[in-house]
Parts: sequence; C-alpha cells; structure tokens
Amino acid sequence: MSRRLMVAGNWKMNNNIEQALKLAETVKRECGGVHKVDVVLAPPFTAIKSVFDAVSDSSIQVAGQNVFWEDSGAFTGEVSAPMLKEAGCRLVIIGHSERRQFFGETDETVNKKIKASLKNGLKAIVCVGETLDEREKGLAFAVLDRQVEGAFSGIAETELEKIVIAYEPVWAIGTGKTATGQQADEAHAHIRKKVEALYGPQAAGAMRILYGGSVKPSNAKELFGMANIDGGLIGGASLKAADFAPIIHAAVETAS
Ligand code: PEP
Repeated sequence: MSRRLMVAGNWKMNNNIEQALKLAETVKRECGGVHKVDVVLAPPFTAIKSVFDAVSDSSIQVAGQNVFWEDSGAFTGEVSAPMLKEAGCRLVIIGHSERRQFFGETDETVNKKIKASLKNGLKAIVCVGETLDEREKGLAFAVLDRQVEGAFSGIAETELEKIVIAYEPVWAIGTGKTATGQQADEAHAHIRKKVEALYGPQAAGAMRILYGGSVKPSNAKELFGMANIDGGLIGGASLKAADFAPIIHAAVETAS
C-alpha cells in the first residue's frame, strides 16, 4: 500500500516571531510548492498565527506542539484545540517524549488530547517511543504496545485517517544518535502490527508512521526509503532551512 509521506518540523521552544517568520519564508521559498509530500511546521504558540499568515498561500501546513483537552475555561497556561484551529493549525503534535518526561503527559492525557483535537477538526501527530533503559531491558515493543493502546482507546476506525503516529525513540531525540533504517523499520512494523490487532489490516496498512530522532539530510533518504517509514518528525534539523529543505526533498524523491 502506498501512503502519502509527511515531513513535520518541530521547532520546540525556539524562534521568536521575527525568527519564525524568517525561517518559514525560507522554507516556503524552497519547498512551498511541494505537493507530493505533506510539509508541516510546528512553531511555538506565540508564532503560530504569524507563520500561518506567511505560508497560507503555499502547500505548507501549520501544527501546534501541544493542546489541552477542554475547549475553554479556567485552565491557566493551556491552549485549546479551537484556539489552535483559529490561529491556523490543521494539525497538532501530541504526546511528545519531552512532554511525557517534563510535563507529566501520560497515555491517558494523550488519549484525551487526541479526542479533543479530532472533535475540533485538527489532525493529530501522536508520538510514541521507548527510552534507552527500556530498550536495553528488552521492553521497547511492550512500551510501544502500551502507548499505542492507550492513545487509541475509544477511538473509532473511521477517525484513523486523521491520525499520524510518530515513532520517536527517546534515546535518538536531540542526541545525534539515529536509529538505523532497519531498527526504525522494525519498530514501525511492530507499531503497524499493533494497529492491525486493534483495527484490522486495512487500517494498519493505511496508517502513516513517521520516524523522529536525529533525522538529518545525510540519513533522511535511507530512513524514508524503508517500507514502514512514511516520513519524519524533525527537531533540530528543522531549525535551519538549509537542513530541513533537503530532508523534505529526500521525501519528495522517495515519493516520486
Ligand atoms: C523531536 O523532538 O521530535 C525530534 C525528533 O528531535 P531531533 O530531530 O532533534 O532528534
């Protein structure tokens, strides 16, 4: 089954409005006409609207990096799905390992956030991945099973087209250590099997699974060429257009 590739740049807590606009304009100049691959930018909340206004005349889509599950109310510091949507987001990253590690994100909160996003017409990029300790103890696949099961609890098969999974081994995020194509593909195949167990073969075959963890121009082509890898969630390398654009072009080449 051929799946549409996606390359999403997670800027994390980087780039003020001026810097964000400069980066978005450069990415747009180099990749704004890309149609074979979904290109996504996830700026910090404060720059979402400006980035959206800058890229809205191109094929580039904008994502939030997090969302709260209520639509509004007394939840100081949180941002809701309708707010993200109004600012221009079409997608949102949910359950990034940094949110699980530093901000108490759990499989249950990930599930609530996915449901709130879908309800409000946002697509969800759902992050899963094991830590180094879990991998060394032989628990990687059990952790992925638990995270996928938790994330998808109560979600109907008809909603799956609005969800993308990102496999991000925690030991590869921002460390410069990349999973080999084979290591990543093995984990992706396992996640796909898990989706199959939950929803059947058709849903599993259609599910897009991105790889994230120190993707760079030098390894993007190998990773995107693997049978079960449908693009990438890119952190560090998305902060420089000179690195991000070749990664997008590697995906376009794979898709061609
Ligand atoms: C990420 O944080 O989603 C990520 C993949 O980061 P990096 O590419 O820097 O490893």
